[in-house]
Amino acid sequence: MGDFIREKARPEIFTLKPYVPGKPIEDVKRELGLDDIIKLASNENPLGSSPKAIEAVEKSLRQMHLYPDANCFNLKKRLSAVTGIEEAGILIGNGSDEILMLLAQTFLNRGDEIIYAKPSFSEYEFTAKIMGAQCIEVPLVDFTHDLDSILKAINDKTKIVYICNPNNPTGTIVKDAEIERFMDKVPDNVLVAFDEAYCEYVESDDFTSGLKYVQAGRNAIVLRTFSKIYGLAALRVGYALTRPEIAQAVEMITEPFNVNMLAQIAALAAIDDSEHVRKSQDINSIGKKYLYNEFDQLGLYYVPTEANFIFVNTGKNSQEVFKSLLQKGVIIRTGDIFGYPDFIRVTVGTESENERFIKNLRQVLAI
Ligand SMILES: *Cc1c(COP(=O)(O)O)cnc(C)c1O
Repeated sequence: MGDFIREKARPEIFTLKPYVPGKPIEDVKRELGLDDIIKLASNENPLGSSPKAIEAVEKSLRQMHLYPDANCFNLKKRLSAVTGIEEAGILIGNGSDEILMLLAQTFLNRGDEIIYAKPSFSEYEFTAKIMGAQCIEVPLVDFTHDLDSILKAINDKTKIVYICNPNNPTGTIVKDAEIERFMDKVPDNVLVAFDEAYCEYVESDDFTSGLKYVQAGRNAIVLRTFSKIYGLAALRVGYALTRPEIAQAVEMITEPFNVNMLAQIAALAAIDDSEHVRKSQDINSIGKKYLYNEFDQLGLYYVPTEANFIFVNTGKNSQEVFKSLLQKGVIIRTGDIFGYPDFIRVTVGTESENERFIKNLRQVLAI
């Protein structure tokens, strides 16, 4: 049986590292018998879903026997109005993860190369390896994308360059002017994918979206999601903004009905819930400053963030810190998977979640 898989499965399958998700609350309840658990591991919105989205979903629960709109007509129309990108250039996916997979399936052949920063979001590597493409990793400098080195890594085989902005797991951005210089030099036959899953959290004035390169007709694609600030991670819905020709090619291989009806309805309502977005930004901004201040007092190094999570050096093995915090019902993410064994990544929570995290971290680190 084992031989069958080894001989017949595509060899690319054996090159993959499985995705490591944040530990689910239910697992911790079951395994540790704990009841009161906070999850600061997956950058979910601590305020929950947009109330407007919840209301819209509740109203449509009686429609679940019907297939969803395969074209996501209403959602595309609204996104077009909000972003200024024509509907033909908009892709909706079962999470932006699906769009990343579709991009790889549309463009990557065995022997092609993609470039991304290290550490960054793991899906670029995962989706490329499935297609047999070579992954070129360019180390971050000062926890930030090193665009000059990325440029130098581009060659005739390069198909896609991924820029995660703000970057997961470090929370850093690449500044407007740097991207401008970068885009001036990137050859036209390379697709630049801007992953902007956290763009709504950015406070710096030096940030601009990759959208302007899409608008300028470049081979660029901007990926966004409803999983983070809109609080709809469970429903799985993300979108991409690009040139119509690119969107059309990707749609050729998209499964019909890839985005479920509740996701479409919730996303449509969430876009216009500016109050929920503003509240989420505010609580994040306040939480960030609280955590910075606490880390300063504890003498812990952290990377200033433009997202809703902080990458912080605890000075101790992150697996140990993770296990100890878990015993206290606090789930965070270890840095070892990102190549930083002494760092953890913690999502900014509500005021009481942040306080509980800090109190428990103090105990765990005994400082
Ligand atoms: C969370 C995240 C995504 C994926 O979001 P989904 O839309 O839930 O698939 C994409 N990119 C980055 C950098 C993320 O952190």
